[in-house]
Amino acid sequence: MTASHAVHARSLADPQGFWAEQAKRIDWETPFGQVLDNSCPPFTRWFVGGRTNLCHNALDRHQAARAAQPALVWISTETDEQRTYTYAELYDEVNRMAAILQGLGVQKGDRVLIYMPMIPQATFAMLACARIGAIHSVVFGGFASVSLAARIDDAQPRVIVSADAGSRAGKVVPYKPLLDEAIRLSQHKPEKVLLVDRKLADMPRTEGRDEDYAAWRERVAGAQVPCVWLESSEPSYVLYTSGTTGKPKGVQRDTGGYAVALATSMAYIFCGKAGDTMFTASDIGWVVGHSYIVYGPLLAGMTTVMYEGTPIRPDGGILWRIVEQYKVNLMFSAPTAIRVLKKQDPSWLTRYDLSSLRLLFLAGEPLDEPTARWIQEGIGKPVVDNYWQTESGWPIIAIQRGIEALPPKLGSPGVPAYGYDLRIVDENTGKECAPGQKGVVAIDGPLPPGCMSTVWGDDDRFVRTYWSAVPNRLCYSTFDWGVRDEDGYVFILGRTDDVINVAGHRLGTREIEESLSSHPGVAEVAVVGVQDALKGQVAMGFCIARDAARTATPADRLALEGELMKTVEQQLGAVARPARVFFVNVLPKTRSGKLLRRAIQAVAEGRDPGDLTTIEDPTALEQLQSALKG
Ligand code: ATP
Ligand code: MG
Repeated sequence: MTASHAVHARSLADPQGFWAEQAKRIDWETPFGQVLDNSCPPFTRWFVGGRTNLCHNALDRHQAARAAQPALVWISTETDEQRTYTYAELYDEVNRMAAILQGLGVQKGDRVLIYMPMIPQATFAMLACARIGAIHSVVFGGFASVSLAARIDDAQPRVIVSADAGSRAGKVVPYKPLLDEAIRLSQHKPEKVLLVDRKLADMPRTEGRDEDYAAWRERVAGAQVPCVWLESSEPSYVLYTSGTTGKPKGVQRDTGGYAVALATSMAYIFCGKAGDTMFTASDIGWVVGHSYIVYGPLLAGMTTVMYEGTPIRPDGGILWRIVEQYKVNLMFSAPTAIRVLKKQDPSWLTRYDLSSLRLLFLAGEPLDEPTARWIQEGIGKPVVDNYWQTESGWPIIAIQRGIEALPPKLGSPGVPAYGYDLRIVDENTGKECAPGQKGVVAIDGPLPPGCMSTVWGDDDRFVRTYWSAVPNRLCYSTFDWGVRDEDGYVFILGRTDDVINVAGHRLGTREIEESLSSHPGVAEVAVVGVQDALKGQVAMGFCIARDAARTATPADRLALEGELMKTVEQQLGAVARPARVFFVNVLPKTRSGKLLRRAIQAVAEGRDPGDLTTIEDPTALEQLQSALKG
């Protein structure tokens, strides 16, 4: 048995003992009595009776040893600014923000909705909420009014914190008009709106409701706001899932379990220690940003880098320049960002001193083999794929290099992390699948600390959605397909609702995509099932060619399409061969880089693609339409 198997086995055999040990990584104002209360499954409470505070653990307890160490480095290539906050300075800013929120009437248990670009004040606001026991709900700044209004109505915030504008690829994106429109649309109205004015866009104010952050910040200079100690299971935040597959779910997270889970993951999975610098190129609007821009690194006494900008502006070397300049030790990004870099001059990867960098973590979507290989060889550092969800809050499957550097297998994020009783189960019987047999990736309860406690305001939906999907078994469904090999490595095979049924054969779109992208002419690909009178459904592929010259004329496209069909036929068999493969320059994706297969499918079937506020590039759908027309 390897070391990681041993740790995993122990975490399941003796969860109380295992997690009680991990709980020593954080400060408790009142020690917990019971480690785990699972008397009412699937509702789980960790560290019952213990009282703690996330902000205390992220900031206060580091003041003695690390007041002068950078805590937060903020870099914006959008406005050309850089700013470093030491632990002492961040403590001061967060205390001021906490005083402001209290001044606006926020109390323990109140929700504060944070709709902000990637600026330091967003981090201040999150930590300030944690400090005073308010529940933050960060809504990704890329969402427009309708999505925002839905989240306002669901979370019912007393206060909203926002800004005049964000900026994306050099273009100012005003936030305030979208926010005003969202508040107009929502049933629930916030009492106050706190506004950071970056002076990027005009900002009309609503008298009596809108408050100015800069003025308040002066007024509360030197404020010291005591931490409000929360019982471990009291909520820290609500975060909505990406909405890739439907109506977003408000994931409710606890306090003590989350703190322990993140602190443990920093050691066992991310190999981070106090004094290290971590650069997570995500957004605070996503779970990766919550866990590994804000809370994880600060809990561990590390320096966190917060970046407003894209991977290719001003040029394709920007991420690596940041690594060099700030001596980044750990980096976290998404496969989609690496695919963007792949289209740039590869010499960017070797122009900077990356000697400080130890590991590159990637998560959020499948990491295909060619991309993994390209980046790993390009920067000469280990790449650590890790699989998880908004719901879990921290990795479910990963090579846990802090325990043991198991050899990775390309295409697999690794083995189940400690605490997760992960099973591959048959979707019809609930029985466990044998190695090599595909099934649903499920987790037998109790979920480990840090995972969602419930759906915000809807316990029923939590049980119905997550715990009732697999027959004959009370288990949490990830809604992803997977398969386990003889060595226990798990391969993710796509989402359970991305399965298509061609003349009675059930095919995962992910498998067809993998096959298509193994062709050297393909840069990116999406496969969806499209209704067909004869076969029920047929697979259709939408490809971005690596070299545009190969798809210049109709004859070129036909030739490449033929080659691609042959590739799939050889690898997966004729039944998986797509009915058609079309070529486009851009695929519809969410702002977080996830393929919007739902939208692609709708367009391919001539339907209305529905709510598209999360789409990165709206012209992508027009491209699909014209590609379909020939
Ligand atoms: P929604 O649940 O609202 O449809 P979403 O599932 O896209 O949205 P997230 O919680 O951000 O929202 O994404 C989690 C999902 O992303 C996983 O369930 C899985 O499908 C995919 N994913 C994440 N990491 C990986 C990975 N390393 N490999 C493969 N897939 C991954
Ligand atoms: Mg999901």
